Parts: sequence; structure tokens; C-alpha cells
Amino acid sequence: MITGKNYIGDILSSEGDTTFTTFNPELNVENPHNFTQATEEEIEKAVTLAWEAFHIYKTFSGKKKASFLRSIADEIEALGEELIKVYCSETGLPEGRAKGERGRTVFQLRSFADLVEEGSWVEASIDTGDKTRTPVSKPDVRKMNIPLGPIVVFGASNFPLAYSTAGGDTAAAFAAGCPVIVKSHPMHAGTGELIATAIIKAAQGTGMPNGIFSNINSSDYTAGQQLVSDPKVKAVGFTGSIRGGRALLDLASKREEPIPVFAEMGSINPVILLPKALENRKEELAATYASSITLGTGQFCTNPGLILGIAGENLDVFISTLGNKVKETTTTCMLHPNIHRAYESNKERAINQDNTEIIAVNESKQENYASQLIATVSGKTFLQNPTLHHEVFGPFSIVVQCESIEEMEQIIAQLEGQLTGTIISDENEVASYAGLVDKMQNRVGRIIFNGVPTGVEVCPSMVHGGPYPASTDSRFTAVGINSIKRWVRPFSYQDWPNELLPDELKDENPLQISRVENGKQIRA
Ligand code: NAP
Repeated sequence: MITGKNYIGDILSSEGDTTFTTFNPELNVENPHNFTQATEEEIEKAVTLAWEAFHIYKTFSGKKKASFLRSIADEIEALGEELIKVYCSETGLPEGRAKGERGRTVFQLRSFADLVEEGSWVEASIDTGDKTRTPVSKPDVRKMNIPLGPIVVFGASNFPLAYSTAGGDTAAAFAAGCPVIVKSHPMHAGTGELIATAIIKAAQGTGMPNGIFSNINSSDYTAGQQLVSDPKVKAVGFTGSIRGGRALLDLASKREEPIPVFAEMGSINPVILLPKALENRKEELAATYASSITLGTGQFCTNPGLILGIAGENLDVFISTLGNKVKETTTTCMLHPNIHRAYESNKERAINQDNTEIIAVNESKQENYASQLIATVSGKTFLQNPTLHHEVFGPFSIVVQCESIEEMEQIIAQLEGQLTGTIISDENEVASYAGLVDKMQNRVGRIIFNGVPTGVEVCPSMVHGGPYPASTDSRFTAVGINSIKRWVRPFSYQDWPNELLPDELKDENPLQISRVENGKQIRA
């Protein structure tokens, strides 16, 4: 049941008098529940509880943390159809997408449970001492990853489950040993509350300390800013706009104790059509890309917003087929009227730039539905106009007609950091374009061969991040079990008595984890 209240630890609380509602973009009506924005005092209480919980939770074994994570997954599944109904009513996304995203969310939680139960993720490293070493004795030094402290997570508008309340950031933080305070996304506050209830139930059922989780409602920036500024908060996870992520990064770095902000933000995900591939598969590629551009109403951070090819007959056919396919693809609903407005205005700005030609528009008359659009420019125009490099969040893509491979290389080198880059190639064609691949590697977090960038597999080898502004720290991924590394720091014990060391670092290796012992990898 949705109450519209905040979870301050395990207590439902609504002390404030500012309320807001969510919106059903498909029906173009407000949803029935009123959500109460958290007060300053409630937020402060949530952070204090998280700080107290941290000191207890960080001592819990991997097994205990795993049982909490698995129980969250079970409780989310137990929410059944109600969750799916609320999700759809707050996003306009179809039921199939809601169910798929729920599957991904519980998979992530269970993957982190397996990871912490096994235990080797702490990267234990032992260098035993030698008292006989001359001229000075060698100390015994042992290192492992330990949790940072309370984490604030900003839920994403475009992934109410997988990147929000119990999404990847939260699951990774719990796995690391950190309490989490979620600043719920106001566009799907009801979905957020249902998931928050599942987390609280799981926490109570598995003996977690009160304060390990809080859920804060708010529809303006004040709550988020208070959370990021609080000295007891030790890191931030964010998915959303470049403006929002950058504002929070700046705020966090101006604190007396600056803290890391791991923000995953905008990307236009360049796609390169190499000449032979274009010649041989232009129609097929156009159809594939029409689907990728319009998938989920284009509301993916991996949406292909920029396609580059060498100008000529083959690219002309690709462009006209792409345009026709996009015209044939049924238009769909955007997440919220605000997202729709932002799409329309960003799209207008892009197509109003000099020498920009519209190839195809699939106009939608339905309220909150996106009009899909494909535009084209020359390589020269693109190079000279940075406005064309900005993300247009929605079903929109620009095809750039380049004069030469050198111009393509120049364009890639000039782009801001990106989550992904894609190379479309015939068999070994790509082997002749090492310069292009090198330029691409310098700008992106993941390079795709003969595919589409939409779809982010959750697996240990995935990098979902990239040079700024794709993310604020390109050394980390926001997807997959390695995302746990954002919420920990390495810590050394020197000459510490064996019986007082954490189990991960004891001589006898009671947890049987993989470790590095005196430079040698010892497998579990
Ligand atoms: P957003 O505006 O960046 O907001 C995300 C969250 O951050 C919200 O909870 C918001 O708070 C908070 N926030 C934003 N700026 C803040 C600030 N200066 N101080 C404190 N808190 C702040 O993103 P959005 O609402 O999801 O969507 C807006 C636009 O972002 C979209 O139209 C799209 O262009 C882009 N976007 C991109 C991606 C991507 O993956 N590339 C994903 C989603 C959105 P409140 O809303 O509560 O005020």
C-alpha cells in the first residue's frame, strides 16, 4: 500500500506540509497519491540513523549481508502485480518493460549476494613481516577493502527499478557494507515507496540495524542538497542529467570534507559505419538502427544519438531507409510531461542549427508521445558546431556525412566523453582503421562491434561509465559486480595481532577466500 510518507529508518514519517503527486503520462492525468516532502529534521534524522547503523552493519559477515540482499529480491518479487501497475502508471512504460526491469533488479541484488557471500571481492593482500631483515625489520602489512559509510543514491527517472531505490547503486552499497539513503525520484515516488517497503521488510526480517535504509521524498533540489552536504554522508550515486550530476559533484567537492560523487550522465553514443559494411548492409543496418533509436522512446543513456558514415550513394540509401523505418515505427509515450518538454526543446535547438537537414519526422499528436526525428549534417558542420554534440534525450539521432576517414577521426577525437562507441564493420574491415579505433577508445567506456549500444548486460566484465561527462569518474563502472568498488576504500593493518584481524586477513584464512599472499595469488 502506498502511504506517500518517507521512510526515516524503519518509521513511516510525514512531518512536512509540502506535497506532490506523480503523473500518468499515458492517460495524461495525475496519479491519486499525495507524497509528503521530507523536512530538514527528518532528513537529518535519516542521516544520523544511517551513521549509527553503519558502525553495526560494517561488522556483519558476507553471509549475513547476502541474506539481506536476497531477502530484498524476494520481497520485491512478492510485491507482485501491484508494483507493475504502479510502475506503468508512473512512467507510461509498457508492462513487459516493467517486468524485464524487475528481473534485472532482483538479478543484480542476487549477484551481489553471491559476491559478498563468497568474500574474495575485498581483495585481501598480505605481506608478512620479517623481524630479521636488515638494516630495518619488515613490518607485517595486510590490506583489504572496507566500506566508506552512509551513501546517498539519487534514483533515475528512466529506470524506476534497476537504477533507483533498490537498483545497482543501492545493491552495491549494501553489499559493500554501507547504509543507503535514497533520494527518491519524484516522477515515480509510488514505485519508490513500494520498493522501500520491500527493503525495510527485508532489513527487519534479517536482523539489520535500523537506519540501514531510508527513503526521502522530495520534488525540489533542497533535500538532495542537504543530503550531499551532510558530513555523515560519505559518497553519492547519481543517474540523470549532466546539469544535475555536475551540480552535485560541485557541491560535494566544496564540502569541508569533499566526498566522491559517482554520477552517470549524458551520452550520444557515436556509431561508425565503415565503408564496406555500409555498402553491403545499408538497408539492414538502417532497420536495426531505427529500432535502437526508438526503443523505450529513446529514453536510454545508451541511445545511438550520432551515426557517422562517409558521404556518398551508400550513405544516402542508409539515411533514407532509416528515415522511412523511423516514420513506420509507432510512436510511444515519454516518462513525464517534463521529459517530453525537454525532448521537444532540445530537439528544436538541434534542428534549428545552421545547415541541419531533417530527414524524417514521425509526428505524434498524442499528449506526451514523442515525435521521432532523424536529422543529418555534414562532417564540417558537426565539427564547427558543439551544440550538435549535446544529448537529445529521446528518439532522435543525427547522421553525419563525413568527407573522409580523417574527418571522422577528427569528430570522434573532438567529442566529449561517452558511455559507448560502436563500429559497424565487414569481417576484418576494422583492422584497416586502427586510428579510428584508437580515437574511439580515448572517448568511450565500452566499444561495440557490429551491434547496437542499447542494452547493457549485467555481468562482471561490463563497463557502464566513461570519460566525463558520461560519468564523473571513468575508473569505475555503474553496472555489474565491480560497481561495488565505488563504495569502498583500501585499508591496511600493520603488525596487527592475528586474532584481532578481520577473518579476511587472518593467517589461517578461515573464509577460504582468494588472496594475494607475499605477491602470490592464492585461489579460494
Ligand atoms: P535530473 O534533472 O538530473 O534529476 C535527477 C535527480 O537529481 C532528481 O531527483 C533531482 O531532484 C536531482 N537533482 C537534479 N539536479 C539537482 C541539483 N542541482 N541539486 C540537487 N538535486 C538535483 O534528471 P531527470 O529528472 O531524470 O531528467 C531530466 C533530464 O535528464 C532528461 O530530460 C534527460 O535529458 C536527462 N537524463 C539523462 C539520462 C541519461 O542516462 N543520460 C537519464 C535520465 C535523465 P528533483 O527532481 O527532486 O528536484
